[in-house]
Amino acid sequence: MGTGNNNGLYEFISSDSNEGFRYVNYESGYVIASARWREIFGIEKGMENDESGFLNLVYEDDRKKFVDKIERILGKQEKNYEIEYRIGDGKTWISHSGTNRYDKDGVLVEKFCFFHDITSDKEKQIELEYMAYFDADTGVYNRNYFIKRLDKEILKAINGGFNRIQVMYIDIDNYNFINDTVGYEKGDELLIMFAKLLLEYSSPTVKIGRFSNDEFAIALYDASGEDEIMEIYNDLKMKLMSPFKIKECSDIYVTISAGIATYPVGGLNANDLIKCADIAMYNVKKNGKNSVSVFEESMLRKFLKNVKLEKKLKAAVEKLDFVLYYQPQYYADKNELRGVEALIRWKVSEDELINPGDFIPMAEKNGCIVDIGQWVIRQALDDFVDWKMNYGYNGMMSINISAIQLKENNFSDILIEYVNSKNVLPSDIEIEITESVFIENFDKTIDVLSRLRKRGFKISLDDFGTGYSSLSYLKDIPIDTLKIDKAFVDTMLTDPSTGIITDAVIKMVKKLGLETVAEGVETKEQYEYLKKMNCDNIQGFYLGKPMSADKIKTLISKINEKY
Ligand code: C2E
Ligand code: CA
Ligand code: CA
Repeated sequence: MGTGNNNGLYEFISSDSNEGFRYVNYESGYVIASARWREIFGIEKGMENDESGFLNLVYEDDRKKFVDKIERILGKQEKNYEIEYRIGDGKTWISHSGTNRYDKDGVLVEKFCFFHDITSDKEKQIELEYMAYFDADTGVYNRNYFIKRLDKEILKAINGGFNRIQVMYIDIDNYNFINDTVGYEKGDELLIMFAKLLLEYSSPTVKIGRFSNDEFAIALYDASGEDEIMEIYNDLKMKLMSPFKIKECSDIYVTISAGIATYPVGGLNANDLIKCADIAMYNVKKNGKNSVSVFEESMLRKFLKNVKLEKKLKAAVEKLDFVLYYQPQYYADKNELRGVEALIRWKVSEDELINPGDFIPMAEKNGCIVDIGQWVIRQALDDFVDWKMNYGYNGMMSINISAIQLKENNFSDILIEYVNSKNVLPSDIEIEITESVFIENFDKTIDVLSRLRKRGFKISLDDFGTGYSSLSYLKDIPIDTLKIDKAFVDTMLTDPSTGIITDAVIKMVKKLGLETVAEGVETKEQYEYLKKMNCDNIQGFYLGKPMSADKIKTLISKINEKY
């Protein structure tokens, strides 16, 4: 780059350019600036030489940053640089990019600079940042920003040493069910209305955030009393007594499960605190929802234990570390084997088995149950075929199917295909389901079950008497067998009203043409009583505990010897 002799070129650039352009040659004192440059900075023609007043044009708050930057550039003899700052009253943003040339002693010889008005870009950026803070649907803070803010407040508390910060994690009970019932559009509307309700508590010290679809959190900074966040919960709960009113939709009643954690007990950063509130919330869910609980140390221990167990379970699913036990079911009148129920155990080691009650709920929650369930079907059928071919077995095989499994689109296809490939008669296979399969998607469930029944499979309704059990809907669902829950059997002899109900249930169910199985029969008295009441089949420790496939083989062989 020459000196002086390029003046013509610079004149050309500055006259023709729509850009803010300014060139200075410190050796010759030659300065030229474009009209646009003068316009941006409000400088009169002929005054472009004067650099002394320039700093005053930079917006007050940005001056220090500007000076620091320029000094650093000159100190390091940087050639190309770019600075952003505001000018005037701070409303206009400038991008200032320059190229400097220094002599061999490091003294600035000449520079030329471009200036852009980037105000509209900056506004867009601020809007984007706004969007980065807020949940677009509901207008409450999004997860990231909620956490960022909370972390800042916790830091303040740590430095100040006196603040109390509380977090309440909130989850709408049965939201998926509500969504399925009213449709997702109305479901979305509900969430917006719910968020609005939460925003009523918003204040400089109360912040609302959304964590996922139907999960929200409230942070209370500098809480004064012990129970301030509890007051919010109680108030919210009262408000939720009135239904949400959505156009063209019946009233929606909402309940929530909530967990509360307090700094510093619950954690020294936002993530920990929220996690603890979440764990407390999860405790409420487990114990029947629609309530609140405050985080305690013991919850964390249990939670961590669960996390460990879940990891182990996932590995077990990979390796298929399970075994099936089988519990015999007998015809009540002739004491003959009706069939067996397959009951899974998790084989933790050679001599340690974990019962399904301790891992099936977890497997249902994390989806593992689908793989586990397929393994159960295959293993049960393999054993069934083995017993039939090699031991003359002619009983049924009952298999427990989880609601999650039944919901899988290809469930019936996989079952039918496997039964076919093994040449097993579908009528020898009984699928045990619980009433929970009818809670979501009633029609689809009916379809799947009807389809299987048409193929010849038997459908059994398990645990009758525990859930929503109403006799009136039994006639509307495609089932063959009803299993009377152990809870009935346990008390029918000691509690007269349970006795009467059990008797009535058996009579009604038989009238509907369904077969009955009583489960959890532990004593001779229970067995005799059920027999007298004409219950068809008996299953329970009294007649036989769940046992390995080998023991079943021995049992079948013994029975066959008798005949
Ligand atoms: P369930 O289907 O109601 O199975 C009966 C449970 O009662 C079994 O517990 C059985 O061992 C137990 N039981 C049977 N007779 C008696 C008795 O006389 N007294 C007492 N106290 N208990 C008795 P288990 O094997 O621990 O299974 C628990 C639950 O786990 C099952 O309840 C079922 O819901 C689930 N489950 C078991 N295997 C599977 C499976 O392969 N898939 C799925 N999805 N669930 C399974
Ligand atoms: Ca069962
Ligand atoms: Ca049962």
